Order: sequence, then structure tokens, then C-alpha cells
Amino acid sequence: MSLPEQQTRVALARYPDGVPVEDDFAMDTSPLPQPGDGQILVRNRYLSLDPFLRGVISGRQIYAQKVEPGDTMPGNTVSEVLESKQPGINAGDFVVCDGGWQQYAAVPAETARKVDPDADLLSLRVGVLGMPGLTAYAGLLRLAQPAVGDTVVVSAASGPVGSMVGQIARIKGCRVVGIAGSEQKCRWVVEELGFDACINYKTEDLDEKLGEHCPDKVNIYFDNVGGDTLAVVLRHLALGARVTLCGMITQYNKSETPPGPNLGPVIGARAIMKGLVVYDHYDLWEQFSTDAGHWIRNGDIRHREVRSDGLGKAAEAFCRLMRGENFGKELVVIE
Ligand code: NAP
Repeated sequence: MSLPEQQTRVALARYPDGVPVEDDFAMDTSPLPQPGDGQILVRNRYLSLDPFLRGVISGRQIYAQKVEPGDTMPGNTVSEVLESKQPGINAGDFVVCDGGWQQYAAVPAETARKVDPDADLLSLRVGVLGMPGLTAYAGLLRLAQPAVGDTVVVSAASGPVGSMVGQIARIKGCRVVGIAGSEQKCRWVVEELGFDACINYKTEDLDEKLGEHCPDKVNIYFDNVGGDTLAVVLRHLALGARVTLCGMITQYNKSETPPGPNLGPVIGARAIMKGLVVYDHYDLWEQFSTDAGHWIRNGDIRHREVRSDGLGKAAEAFCRLMRGENFGKELVVIE
């Protein structure tokens, strides 16, 4: 197969000031990457847009190298292997790797995870069957350990992480209450995903509605947002509650870290709060893939993707995500 000498990519043009805008990114061409020893050359098929990228750009994400203006934007991809300089991975295999906002990438084979090439499930490998799904699975089942009858509350409930948390909790026999930012999101979460209730925190009084929907209080809070929502939910914790701190998206676009919530209620509830970093739970990949694959195939778990066509749409889609206007997993289909 003959490969082009140049490829299309999207680079960081300048550091965003607050919420990113499209002009913070620039599309251009670059030479096709060449794989070195131990590397694979891949063609990226699906690019995942994730909130953590905002922290990578600002240098706050401690697990990734800071992006400088001019650098290709990083990002998880589902990619097809074109050439391999590592035994065990072959041309034609599909992998999830950090392929970035570009058509082709040369990446260390050890950082790529081989996935089943089943075309129906391929894009989900960076969504509900990928890192966001594993985040939900590990943060709920391993860290918070739900029991039948527990009341589980989850914020950003319609996103890939939140929607998986709620549906897994439902499968495990819990009462599930979502928190989301629009009427449409709340309706989907209840009517399609089977949550018991969903509170629109933008139009409803969260404190009052939590009292109404969680009469026995909250046994597990899975926090994807931090900020005021976290502060309010803490006031509703049941005795022995578990709080999984997964994400703080309300502060990703801020240059200063805001003051924290009052933690007094955590004492009263004798609650346990645990910070979640999904990379600590990669030992669960196989178990998670088996369970989640089964739930998705038999219709117990539903999901929603927002697909944008082409790298030219990547910046627009990422900015939408960081404004909180996405409704489902943001993906770019790379031509
Ligand atoms: P997501 O839910 O689609 O994230 C975007 C959503 O966050 C928005 O649609 C919006 O939903 C909500 N949001 C609330 N306040 C916001 C604000 N101020 N600005 C922008 N959005 C806001 O994405 P996800 O991939 O499922 O991730 C959910 C959370 O998990 C994120 O915080 C992410 O960083 C975190 N995460 C953590 C780990 C880990 O290892 N700890 C791994 C993966 C993801 P509403 O309209 O419903 O408010």
C-alpha cells in the first residue's frame, strides 16, 4: 500500500484563555510520521474528545506531557495498524492508542491496546467500552462498592462516564438519581437509560429535589463535576456513604482553583471519599470488557455518540464539550 508523504493534523495554536475557542487550534499538514524500533505506524479512525485534554493543554494533568503551541493535539484514538516494529502487533490489527488529532501516528507499541476489530463496537472502544467506561466501572464497583437497594447519585449523568455509572448501578440493584444540565438530557437518562430520576440542576433547586428523590439519603455519590453540585450533594449523604471523586469539570477552564466545599457533612455521615484515577485500575480491563460487552450486546446498557466528520471539525467539537454543550460521547471520524 502506498502512503502519502504529508498528512493533515490539528495543532494547538495558542493557550486557551478560559473556555477554549476554535481559534486556539489550527489545522495544517505535516510529514507522515515514521515508526522507530518498538513502534507501530497507525491510521487513526476515531478520535476521542475527552475533558482531561483541557488539563493537558494547561499543564495541570500530571499524567501527560504539557502541549506547547505548534504541537499536535494529543488524544485517544481507535486506529488501524499499518506497520509494526514490535512482535505481537501486526498490520491489520486495531488498537486504542494516543494517536492524536492527526490522520497517522507512530506510537510506542507498549502504549497501544489491541481491541477486537468488530466494526459495530469499534468506536465504543474510546467511549463506553473504553477508558470512560472503565472509569465508571472501577469508580463505582471497586471504589464505592454498591449494595442492592443503595441510592446512587451521579452528576454529568448523560456523559459517557455518568451514563455508565448510572446503568451499572441500576444493573446492580441500586436506586439511581442523575444530575444533568438540560431537560433533554434528563429525559434521556430516565426514559432510555432507566434511571429512577434525574435533576436538571440549571432549572431546578438541587437541594430540594435531592431531598425529594433520595428520601433515604445518598449512599453513593459519583462526582464528575465538583463545585456547587458537590457541595450540595454532600449535605444529603447517608451514614456510611461513599463518594467517588472522579472529575471536576466545573474548574477545568479556570486559571485559579476555586475554594473547596464545606466538608463538615462528611464527618457527620462518617463518609469515605476516594479519588479515582482510571490508570490505577487497568488490571480490570478484561473483566470490564467482558461485562460491559455483554451488557451492551443484550441491551442492558445504552449509549449515545456525537460524531463529527473529519479533523476539520475536531476543534469545534472539543470547544462544545468544554462549554458543556455535548450530549453524549464526542467523537471525530477521521477520513
Ligand atoms: P462528559 O460527561 O461528556 O463531560 C461533559 C459534561 O460535563 C457536559 O456535557 C456537562 O453536562 C458537564 N458539565 C458540568 N459542568 C460543566 C462545566 N462547567 N463546563 C463544562 N461541562 C460541564 O465527559 P466524560 O468523558 O463522561 O467525563 C466526565 C467526568 O469524568 C469529567 O470530569 C472527566 O474529567 C472525568 N474523568 C475522570 C477520569 C479519572 O480517571 N478520574 C477518567 C475519565 C473521565 P451537564 O449539562 O449535564 O452539566
